[in-house]
Amino acid sequence: MNTVSDPVVIVGGGQAAVQLCLALRKEKYDGEIMIFSAESEPPYHRPPLSKAYITGQADDSKLAMRPESFYPAKNIQLKLNDEVLSIDASAKTIASASGKQAYSSLVIATGAVARPLQIEGRDAKAVYELRDIHDARSIKAALEKANHVVVIGAGFIGLEVAAAANQSGKKVTVFDMADRVMGRAVAPLISHWFEKTHRAAGIDIHLQESIKGIVSDDSGHVTGVERNSSEILEAQLVLIGIGVLPNSDIASAAGIQCDNGVVVDKYCRTSNPHIYAAGDCANHPNVFADGRRVRLESIQNATDQARVIASAIVAGGEATRAYGAVPWFWSDQAEHALQMTGLSFDADSYAVRGEPASASFSVFHYRQQQLLAVDSVNSSRDHMLSRKMLAAGVSPTPEQVEDTSFNLLDLVKSAK
Ligand SMILES: Cc1cc2nc3c(=O)[nH]c(=O)nc-3n(C[C@H](O)[C@H](O)[C@H](O)COP(=O)(O)OP(=O)(O)OC[C@H]3O[C@@H](n4cnc5c(N)ncnc54)[C@H](O)[C@@H]3O)c2cc1C
Repeated sequence: MNTVSDPVVIVGGGQAAVQLCLALRKEKYDGEIMIFSAESEPPYHRPPLSKAYITGQADDSKLAMRPESFYPAKNIQLKLNDEVLSIDASAKTIASASGKQAYSSLVIATGAVARPLQIEGRDAKAVYELRDIHDARSIKAALEKANHVVVIGAGFIGLEVAAAANQSGKKVTVFDMADRVMGRAVAPLISHWFEKTHRAAGIDIHLQESIKGIVSDDSGHVTGVERNSSEILEAQLVLIGIGVLPNSDIASAAGIQCDNGVVVDKYCRTSNPHIYAAGDCANHPNVFADGRRVRLESIQNATDQARVIASAIVAGGEATRAYGAVPWFWSDQAEHALQMTGLSFDADSYAVRGEPASASFSVFHYRQQQLLAVDSVNSSRDHMLSRKMLAAGVSPTPEQVEDTSFNLLDLVKSAK
């Protein structure tokens, strides 16, 4: 028999889970909270894994989201190595590796899994995807020994790893089937700037080219990749970074509506009134996409959705606070900081602020004269101002954007 005093159960021990705990305690929720994590490590930051961690510039001590003492101090049961296997939505229980647990509210924060690449030779040793700390440790160890690294996929993670490996003195080759790097996420000018910059730093980039297969030696260790021309390119480490898939199998098996992730409403509620979902696994309506459904894979999204869920749980399941945070994301590639805000899917024109040649500039995306999104390269000021403009519904004209003597902050101030 369930009671309201049953704990809030969180499935997954990542970004959204920790933020939810913080937000619940901040909102004075004093009931029990349980995190079920399939991982063996307490929650840690994923972004450094594809950047400073694999080159040894950041070590394990920098990764933990909170010290281990945080969880008992906040009356949070952190259950590691305890994968949730199924949800019984009508009984309001979950079954995990350690047994059955009743919940008052359930939060699905299961993140995403790396999209698998079906390719001959995929099982060779030292061929990795990068999603968790174990992948990162393996990549770090393999990188130390490798001379030549091949990266398949020129998205954020692929390029971050390529840049990090290149900075550690490795020969790096990147392949992508698309005609530009990070093509699904940034403006063409940004793609071309990064392509040129990475090439200038020594990374070999092949666009509109897929790989035929991965070749290995008698011990099963990767020795190279086979190009479509049948040329074999030597490699001792292959990183596959071709995107992710939402981790929603246990939700759909429980009869919770899923479609490219767990379907939630603007309050992050699933099709079941006692079950919420947040983060990479949640397919949600986003006001910055005209209310259309999207799934965002970012720290911002996981964090802000967790806060929305905390408000609803504290309010006894009442919908109080809708998700409407301005989307933002960053990607550090070598010494360059790419920061993006807004959602740029429907852009029909662009305006550029600053000079790409100076390595500090921003591309403003517009649809029918309305500002949609801004991608900034080495310009945190533009990024922060753009977040404020998008939040306030301020849309500078392309002329104002292109005129660097025009103070965008004045527009933000005048909107208040
Ligand atoms: C290498 C890397 C670099 C990144 N860099 C950036 C960046 O620079 N900027 C940025 O904004 N974002 C970045 N991201 C994305 C960001 O980390 C994610 O968007 C964020 O972690 C999503 O949070 P989440 O809580 O939804 O999922 P996660 O943090 O992925 O946590 C999900 C957790 O759920 C666990 N889990 C899954 N199923 C179960 C189950 N059945 N039972 C128990 N546990 C389960 C998983 O093992 C995992 O620990 C990066 C991600 C990666 C992998």
